[in-house]
Amino acid sequence: MAVDRDAFTRAGALLRQAMDSWSPVAVLTGAGISAESGVPTFRGPDGLWCGFRPEELATPAAFARHPERVWEWYHWRRRLVLAAMPNAGHRALAALEAVAGDAFTLVTQNVDGLHRLAGSRRLVELHGTLLEARCTRCGRVEPLPPEATGIPRCPACGAMARPNVVWFGESLPADAWARAQRAAETASVFLVIGTSAVVYPAAGLIEIAAASGARVIEVNPEETPLSGLADCVLRERAGVALPALLREAGILDA
Ligand code: NAD
Ligand code: ZN
Repeated sequence: MAVDRDAFTRAGALLRQAMDSWSPVAVLTGAGISAESGVPTFRGPDGLWCGFRPEELATPAAFARHPERVWEWYHWRRRLVLAAMPNAGHRALAALEAVAGDAFTLVTQNVDGLHRLAGSRRLVELHGTLLEARCTRCGRVEPLPPEATGIPRCPACGAMARPNVVWFGESLPADAWARAQRAAETASVFLVIGTSAVVYPAAGLIEIAAASGARVIEVNPEETPLSGLADCVLRERAGVALPALLREAGILDA
């Protein structure tokens, strides 16, 4: 893949301009940013688990029918994530936040906790986290011990717990969505990183940002259905593109 130097120069200038004027910068990340940490994406070649597609596991109907199977999948994904480390892409976004401060929001669709581990704090976890369980009766949320297996039970009421994530067909937590929407509406630069832009309503944030006047920068080795909304497209892996973009913007040392 030929690297488009011109796109990096233009994207770096947009980011520099936003920093210089303390204009709000927002970021939307998807599974692609964690791919270089060894966490499989849903739509990549490693997306299947025991022959099941994620759409057959990450739904309320799948959990109602086969809670043990769904939990086994989440235990497997959680163990993968616990063995993973943030990569240069996660670290670059933590560095960007350190410079941008209050004018920065990182919205992630990821449930792997790697942004937090990298030091990001102005973070909206739209789809929850697979490091926690939530009671199906009283809603109590508990961290999962690394060695957890089987179907966890609620320590307060004894009912079955479920992963504390948002499944296909469920609505997003209202406060997280409100923060994400506000960030998209007010951003002057909106970075979209490693998302296939097909899971709604999260993908709608790109449309909201573009319609509200943000300059959109996409970082993804592949084209997506919303690539056309981007002012600059960086067809490169996040772990390579983001440090390069920050150097271009003068945020990281060359
Ligand atoms: P997705 O699997 O649908 O798409 C991944 C995207 O990342 C693709 O467009 C791919 O081209 C791109 N990509 C692959 N490697 C990349 C790299 N090194 N750098 C940059 N981009 C790269 O993921 P999605 O759009 O996030 O949507 C799927 C849903 O799956 C989300 O709701 C998310 O919650 C969930 N999910 C989360 C994780 C995680 O937490 N790490 C992992 C898998 C799925
Ligand atoms: Zn309970």
